[in-house]
Amino acid sequence: MYFTDFDFEDEVLDALDAMRFEKCTPIQEQTLQPLMDGRDLIGVAQTGTGKTAAYLLPVLNRLCTGEYPEDAINCVIMAPTRELAQQIDRQLEGFTYFMQVSSVAIYGGNDGQRYEQELRGMAKGADIIVATPGRLISHITLGNIDLSKVSFFILDEADRMLDMGFCNDIMTIAKQLPKKRQTMLFSATMPEEIRKLASDLLTDPLQVTLALAKPADGITQQAYICHEGQKLGIINSIFDSESSERVILFASRKTKVKEIARTIRKHGFNVGEMHSDLSQSERDEIMYQYKSRKIDMIVATDILARGIDIDDIRIVINYDVPRDCDDYIHRIGRTARAGTKGRAITFVSQEDQEYFKRIEDFIEQDVPKMEVPAELGEAPAYEPKKKEKRGAKGRNGRNRKTHGRSDRKGSGKRRNDKGKKNESKAPAAPKQKTEAQGAPGDAPKKRNNRRRRYHRTNRENSNKE
Ligand code: AMP
Repeated sequence: MYFTDFDFEDEVLDALDAMRFEKCTPIQEQTLQPLMDGRDLIGVAQTGTGKTAAYLLPVLNRLCTGEYPEDAINCVIMAPTRELAQQIDRQLEGFTYFMQVSSVAIYGGNDGQRYEQELRGMAKGADIIVATPGRLISHITLGNIDLSKVSFFILDEADRMLDMGFCNDIMTIAKQLPKKRQTMLFSATMPEEIRKLASDLLTDPLQVTLALAKPADGITQQAYICHEGQKLGIINSIFDSESSERVILFASRKTKVKEIARTIRKHGFNVGEMHSDLSQSERDEIMYQYKSRKIDMIVATDILARGIDIDDIRIVINYDVPRDCDDYIHRIGRTARAGTKGRAITFVSQEDQEYFKRIEDFIEQDVPKMEVPAELGEAPAYEPKKKEKRGAKGRNGRNRKTHGRSDRKGSGKRRNDKGKKNESKAPAAPKQKTEAQGAPGDAPKKRNNRRRRYHRTNRENSNKE
């Protein structure tokens, strides 16, 4: 199905054309029309499926008709992390290039300058705000923001927001909104808490579920069954024979990320690190350096597993095995984006074997096991079953059979702490790029209203003809 099959306004079609979007992805195919018809929607889909455009396009299509108040916030998009909020805002920027629709991203940072930018953005009447829950709550509490005219409310990665402990914040925000609105909830998983949230916030929603995500076909997965002390040697051996450019290396904890980055830097790799101890401006700087190829590798916590949109990452290395199967999918999904090819290499230490087996079961694939170079000494055998005898439950007390996609209660607290911290810490200065380009968080990019009216009048005239 093509975007031209839908009754989009010219501005939206121009934007799609400029972005080179022609064919709809499956989630877009299934949701665009019901959303354009005004239905509430639950979309069970994860990042990489095109869900952002699926919800942005119908909203923009309505907003660019000019039928909504120009001096009010018409749409609120909630995202769990700043990285995702920025990513959404960037897509929004692309789509609104030809429209008189403005947006502001509200995602925190402790510095006054960033706060002032957000205030300015809201005061100038942004049509759309893209916000993390904690920061939006603080603006609401201080009376900075009027949400009484909102017509569209979107929750992106709702499961992640609940995992991070934002349920009450979301309900508080929802209470500020008019009852009559269109609400869309997107989530990678549908645990009971999400169903409950959906039934509280949505009216007669259509549910569209994409088949449970599996790694993209273009990703070659490999695993090294190894001892902890062999991992660094394996990295050296991999990059002896190939470039270390466009590589992301994931580890679960930030202490580990710092340690790995320090060590591999000493081995001569050109590496940056990304974790929640960095300020927003530091994170932006690392991303900028990576995108502009000033650094080859990033070592990151799962903070990066969902929130980046770089199409040419060659290799993802899991320095440890993620505990949640969907974290694995998200991490390796950073490579082979947009139909390209990539490699995902996972280091499986003895204590991680049972978790890796669980991932293999989940993706219904045996990941090819690579030989650990002989000079690094003998490697352990892959015997995950042995470990499993310790008990039928995982470390978090979760039953392995249901672990992964649908039952994430066990990891809630851990993520709670991490997520809350991410959001509240974050001292940040506005990134240079943002300032220069008027991008996320800057004053909204509302174009002149005269042109907006001109567009509208033109359309009315042509309708009459
Ligand atoms: P998302 O799942 O929304 O994070 O989107 C993943 C990536 O796919 C983003 O880089 C989008 O710009 C891109 N994308 C989404 N829909 C389309 C489409 N119909 N055609 C081409 N690229 C798309």
